Amino acid sequence: NKITIAIDGFSSTGKSTIAKLLAKKYNYVYVDTGAMYRAVTLFAKQNNYVGEGYLKKEELIKELNSISLSFKFNKDLGFAEMLLNGVNVEKEIRTLEVSQLVSKVAAISEVRKKLVAEQQLMGKERGIVMDGRDIGTVVFPDADLKLFMTASADKRATRRYKELIGRGDKVNFDEILFNVQERDRIDSTRKDSPLVKADDAIEFDNSDMGIQEQFERICSLVDR
Ligand code: C5P
Repeated sequence: NKITIAIDGFSSTGKSTIAKLLAKKYNYVYVDTGAMYRAVTLFAKQNNYVGEGYLKKEELIKELNSISLSFKFNKDLGFAEMLLNGVNVEKEIRTLEVSQLVSKVAAISEVRKKLVAEQQLMGKERGIVMDGRDIGTVVFPDADLKLFMTASADKRATRRYKELIGRGDKVNFDEILFNVQERDRIDSTRKDSPLVKADDAIEFDNSDMGIQEQFERICSLVDR
């Protein structure tokens, strides 16, 4: 019997790694909701609605209807890539620049309303694993299994740093550490759907736990 799995938590806590492993093992659909907020942010950036030090909220809200988001499964990668108005933006949405703007865009209620509705539609049928910040609290409050991931800011920044360096991006560690903490702060304090652990979510602190060990523990929860 397939279930709905909601994974929430702070930035760079390994949510997507766990989600991808689960989707593969159980043959579930994985939806990376962070990618959707990132794609809207990229759209806003391309149209100069957002940039360092400014956010033209009303103008972006007016254009929300012209943003079409979809996922395209990439067999070689083993997960779905993000398409913005039909264009594959998987690489562009992962840059530090987008990471530095995304939380401001994600705090806009109209943006959340649009994306939450799309996410609920994608998860209509069970056999889904979705990760984000508000999945267990807002998108699927009735999810069968809710996980909440945490880890020390230092560990998280180290992971993100290695990821970006691995892709060939020029970044420095302090910048990443600041971004991880700043996003946590904005995500946890915004008025609409702030990042909080759902009462019935199971917390995993993976500061000192390997992904494999954690994955095995989570699988036993799915199998129960
Ligand atoms: O998961 P990821 O780090 O890619 O998410 C990027 C940003 O998108 C988060 O820092 C947060 O501001 C926003 N987000 C959100 N709600 C979600 C998923 C992501 O507000 N469900």
